[in-house]
Amino acid sequence: MRRKLAAGNWKMNGDKVALAELDTLANTPEATEIDILVCPPATLIDAAVTRLGTAPVAVGAQDCHAETTGAYTGDLSAAMLADVGATAVILGHSERRALHHETSEAIREKARAAQAQGLMAIICLGESEFQREATNTLDIIGAQLSLSVPDGSTGLNLVVAYEPVWAIGTGRVPHPDQIGEVHDFIRARLERRFGAGVGRSVRLLYGGSVKPANAADIFAVSNVDGALVGGASLTAGDFRPIISALAQA
Ligand code: PEP
Repeated sequence: MRRKLAAGNWKMNGDKVALAELDTLANTPEATEIDILVCPPATLIDAAVTRLGTAPVAVGAQDCHAETTGAYTGDLSAAMLADVGATAVILGHSERRALHHETSEAIREKARAAQAQGLMAIICLGESEFQREATNTLDIIGAQLSLSVPDGSTGLNLVVAYEPVWAIGTGRVPHPDQIGEVHDFIRARLERRFGAGVGRSVRLLYGGSVKPANAADIFAVSNVDGALVGGASLTAGDFRPIISALAQA
């Protein structure tokens, strides 16, 4: 049985004042039924962990370097994130693949480093609109999946997030059948590579314009174990109804 996961990606948004949103999340009744994760900018991870204390809300990061230490100005290692209390890290978000030219191979190395430090790697996959129209979406997803996910991954240290690039921040959401097709495909690929036990234990998140109004429809899709939420995770007012919809799904 996979435990549902609602993960919020704040991207490059939020300051110390915004941490007050966490107080509301910490008191969300569903927090004991499903996993809740917030990934603020790295500047806020330490303060977020301290503020949440023993509340059942985890804190994650949005990227890490593949090395543990070294001359990598501006970068943060998985060990550093773990040191301040992060328990997960988003890797291979389409914004990093596009704007920082991250390849699936580089993402795999980051994921390997994150898992070695005890972090849960949330590896993002997704096709662009051009790719959906011009090629086979499942070929794109299959290639990203096999190259980005390290050997030795388990249901504890790996989460896969399907995030169609054209749905991120656009208000456009795939038809539930399109989400289901990709999630079923990812599940089958994971089972083939890691065996049924591990393959069935990895949680699959959908991401891309998840809002309170559409969350229930998305969570009803097979093999959707939760969501990676961008804009609607910035305020507890929007994130909480999504969490509730997931708990009820
Ligand atoms: C994201 O960036 O991971 C995301 C899903 O963003 P949004 O929910 O704003 O589309």
